[in-house]
Amino acid sequence: MPRAHRIISKGTTDKHAGAIGQLNAPGDYILVVRGIPRTIVMACPDGCGETITVNLDQRTGKAWHKYERNGKLTIYPSIWRDTGCRAHFIVWYDHILWCDSTDLASVTIDESLIETVFNSLPTDSPIHFEMIAKLLHAIPWEVLWAGNELVRRGRAVVVNKNNFKRSSNRDIPPAAGGCINLLA
Ligand SMILES: [Zn+2]
Repeated sequence: MPRAHRIISKGTTDKHAGAIGQLNAPGDYILVVRGIPRTIVMACPDGCGETITVNLDQRTGKAWHKYERNGKLTIYPSIWRDTGCRAHFIVWYDHILWCDSTDLASVTIDESLIETVFNSLPTDSPIHFEMIAKLLHAIPWEVLWAGNELVRRGRAVVVNKNNFKRSSNRDIPPAAGGCINLLA
């Protein structure tokens, strides 16, 4: 069965057991809600036939965050099966971005968000992009991708892959053949 490139909502339920029978195609998912969102139960989008349970309840240990914007679902961080098919993917606005593909390279981020992220970057100690996302009420993926774009443009620097700050002049390597100060 081919890999899915989108997730499809099959509604909500209050029981995990009842969810599995309603999943037909890879990427189908059900939200389990009891008082608060508990889990996302999803037919593994790579088509292996297994079911993935994504915990959303921070009280029960390691949990993912979900963001709903314009009726579309984003999940952070990535979903990585460490057994079985070892599928590794990102859910972003109902899209499935496969981590072993070029999907991420095809994502474009709004210029306005890139500017907003730049304006939030410290000039001294780098801060984690998740922290910036929290301050901006933004989706962490987009802050990360905007940060990476700012690094590409020479306007930001990244430390340990995740911590960003504005680049100062001394962070930018001097252009070859630039102004040479004869008095130095
Ligand atoms: Zn799978």
